[in-house]
Amino acid sequence: PPAVDRLEQIPIIRKDDLPALQASEPPFGGLVAVDPGRLQRIFASPGPILDPQGEGEDFWRFRIAFAAAGFRAGDIVMNSSAYHLTPLGFMLDNGARALGCVVIPAGTGQTDLQVRVACAVRAKGYAGTPSFLYTLLKRGRELGTPLPLEVAWVIGEMFPDSLRSDLRDEFHLDVLQGYGTADLGLLAYECAEKGGMHLHPECILEVLDLETGAQAAPGQPGQIVATIFDPAYPLLRFATGDIGAMASPSKCACGRTAPKLAGLLGRMGDAVKVKGMFIRGAEIEKALKAFPAVARFQAVVTRDHHQDHLEYVLEVAPGAAVDVALVAEALRDAVKVRGEVRTGPVPENARRIDDRRVWK
Ligand SMILES: [Zn+2]
Repeated sequence: PPAVDRLEQIPIIRKDDLPALQASEPPFGGLVAVDPGRLQRIFASPGPILDPQGEGEDFWRFRIAFAAAGFRAGDIVMNSSAYHLTPLGFMLDNGARALGCVVIPAGTGQTDLQVRVACAVRAKGYAGTPSFLYTLLKRGRELGTPLPLEVAWVIGEMFPDSLRSDLRDEFHLDVLQGYGTADLGLLAYECAEKGGMHLHPECILEVLDLETGAQAAPGQPGQIVATIFDPAYPLLRFATGDIGAMASPSKCACGRTAPKLAGLLGRMGDAVKVKGMFIRGAEIEKALKAFPAVARFQAVVTRDHHQDHLEYVLEVAPGAAVDVALVAEALRDAVKVRGEVRTGPVPENARRIDDRRVWK
């Protein structure tokens, strides 16, 4: 389409460049178009990246996705995503509220308490990451108080088919997902037909070939680059670092005409998403600088029973010793995701983060 052709003349802003941009021109790198006093909230995502929230009851545009997933006004919704510093909690909260849902700001963790509250108020909906949804449902069953959920919408993590079918077969829950980022808000969401995520009508989404930077053909992987026109935080050609592919054009039985993102395929660069949060090799390396006894390290990400696991392997220099508990504490402060720490051999030139998860 001609509009997108002309878009290609605009330079790309890379998400990985945001920390440096924001540091050189605090606080927002010159990208916020309104007086900071007119923002609603300011968040801090790992990076660190500051994320502004401008005006409006549904600043990040999530309402449309909840509506497509069967949420309705008056539904009581557990929002099990973090409200602290990172924006996902408020993103989902605002979207559900805009639709007229009653939101329980449950946040992450405290699984047993969340089960009790969801049962006490007969929560009908769930919003949050897919792995925590599975945890909550299993815990409810273990406690003899199955959750009364009827609708669920997930984001923030890969949502493999195996988890989707376990949720359907074990808990009779048909779960829909969406895709977005802390900077851009919602970009795409599933309708009941699934088969990819419809692009949000208020964004332009490009999938750019990883080598040439040209528009990738449907089915071909590329970096997801998005443009949003928010008056407070307009982002033109913002390169997310996420790799995805567009679906082949076809008529969706739901009646929506927006094209579909076929799915997400992974990440570019140094960041890896674990338990819904980004971890970065540079971040880990910086924290471990305080422990000269650590000669080499590797963070290993695996997946078991639909849950991510993070383990740090430290190779200690010959003749040196390291207090594993102290290292664990330093890593907990530096990296938002909790991981186990052990000592062991690490191959020379090992990748800083070894993501061994297989999505199927
Ligand atoms: Zn559809």
